Amino acid sequence: MDHLPERLDLIATAEAGRVLRGRIPVAGLQRVLPSLVSDEGELQVELHLGKDLDGTCFLAGAIQGEIVLRCQRCMEGMTLPLELEFRLGLLRDESAMGKLSDCYEPLVVTAEPAYIADIVSDEVLLALPIVPLHKGSDECNASIKAYKPPQDEQRDNPFAVLAELKHKQ
Ligand SMILES: [Zn+2]
Repeated sequence: MDHLPERLDLIATAEAGRVLRGRIPVAGLQRVLPSLVSDEGELQVELHLGKDLDGTCFLAGAIQGEIVLRCQRCMEGMTLPLELEFRLGLLRDESAMGKLSDCYEPLVVTAEPAYIADIVSDEVLLALPIVPLHKGSDECNASIKAYKPPQDEQRDNPFAVLAELKHKQ
C-alpha cells in the first residue's frame, strides 16, 4: 500500500500494478467546489491500478467522506455522505472505446501524469443530486409548505391545444 501522490502516470502504474490509499482535501477538488457550501474536510480515497486478464489497464477506486451542498429549498448547507466505487478502463485514445468491456467506464488518458484530484472530482460530480434538497422538514430550515416547486404555468394541456386547433379550422 502506497501513499496517494498528487499526480500519477496512470497507464504505467496500471501496467505495474499498485494499490494507493490516502486522503484528498475537499478544497483540492476544483471541479466540485462550485457546488459546495464548504470546502472543509477530506475524502478518503483508495485506488487499485492493474491489468486484467484481457490486458485492459484499469483503475478501480473507492471514495468515502462527506461534502456539504446547498439545499435548494432553504439555501442552507446540506451534508451529503459519499460512499462511491468506480471501475475505469484506461484507454490511450478514443479508438479503443468500442473494445472496452462493459464492466468499466472508459477513461481516455490524454495527459500523464494525471491529477488524482481531477479523477476523484469527476466521480464525485457524477454522484451529486441534480437538485440538492434536505430529505424532510425536520432537517430543512424552510417550511415544506412555503416551498413551491418551479412549474411551467404556461404549459397547455395537449388536449386543450388540439381542441383549440379544431376551432380554428
Ligand atoms: Zn433545506
